[in-house]
Amino acid sequence: IDCSLTVVGSINADITATTSRLPAAGETVGGGRLSRSPGGKGANQAAAAARLGARTRMIGAVGPDTDGQAMLQALRAAGVRIDAIAEATTETGTALIMVDADGENQIAVCEGANAEVSLDGVEFSPDEAVLTQLEISLDLIAELADRVPGFLAVNAAPALPLPAEVVDRADLIIVNEFEYSQLPQLKTARLVAVTYGAKGSALLRNGEQIAFAEAVRANPVSTVGAGDAYCAALTIGLTSGLEPERALRAANAVGAAAVEVASAQPEFDRLATYLPALD
Ligand code: ATP
Repeated sequence: IDCSLTVVGSINADITATTSRLPAAGETVGGGRLSRSPGGKGANQAAAAARLGARTRMIGAVGPDTDGQAMLQALRAAGVRIDAIAEATTETGTALIMVDADGENQIAVCEGANAEVSLDGVEFSPDEAVLTQLEISLDLIAELADRVPGFLAVNAAPALPLPAEVVDRADLIIVNEFEYSQLPQLKTARLVAVTYGAKGSALLRNGEQIAFAEAVRANPVSTVGAGDAYCAALTIGLTSGLEPERALRAANAVGAAAVEVASAQPEFDRLATYLPALD
């Protein structure tokens, strides 16, 4: 696996309160347990890519606060180059999550420093792949479509209509089944990967399916971060020369590994270690 990857995207502190039930509007529910963990689609994808073996740098922003320092530390520990992550004046992006005993959740996202991500002074080389998601401004995604000389992968999550120039330019657009149903414009995109959770995933060229791979059987603990791990693995697989179906199978294996751990930034092995089991 030989891949240089730049991830341009969000960095969030996930602050989770686990309670017996979710409060109704205006209500207070006591007895919660608090946990903090690194998150944000951009950071999750960068951490996964580095652990899967890509030379990975991240472009993003954190705030001048302890959450920001903790998020940088998590990325550094995963092996991500963090020197192009800016320190913004606003607070680190935060997801406030409430989870009840049944795993049902409510999430409020405060984008904070993610609104200040900028490509000023950033150079892209033709032999690096760039992977981005929609938790940063669509103007920035359009700027990437304009400036990235190499392989450009866009994870269109959360589901937002993409600028036409992005659909035309992207070498790969990755969505889940729901996002695909929300974005009819993807029918004309060059290459789209659609994930179907425990069913697997497919590749579509101009709206026609060219490859499908069944999911790898897993014992799910938390699906948070499965999509992010999948995006990193598929981008690395396709840009380092795996055939489409093999790249899908490798990405499914990595997605399955991700659902078996609670963390959104699991400790994956190198991508190559997921391959022999597929043959
Ligand atoms: P997320 O929950 O992170 O937002 P997503 O909705 O973007 O995920 P999914 O389609 O749920 O994406 O999962 C991405 C990939 O991970 C799937 O294509 C599949 O390969 C793998 N995966 C997800 N859930 C399971 C599961 N229960 N068992 C096995 N593999 C799974």
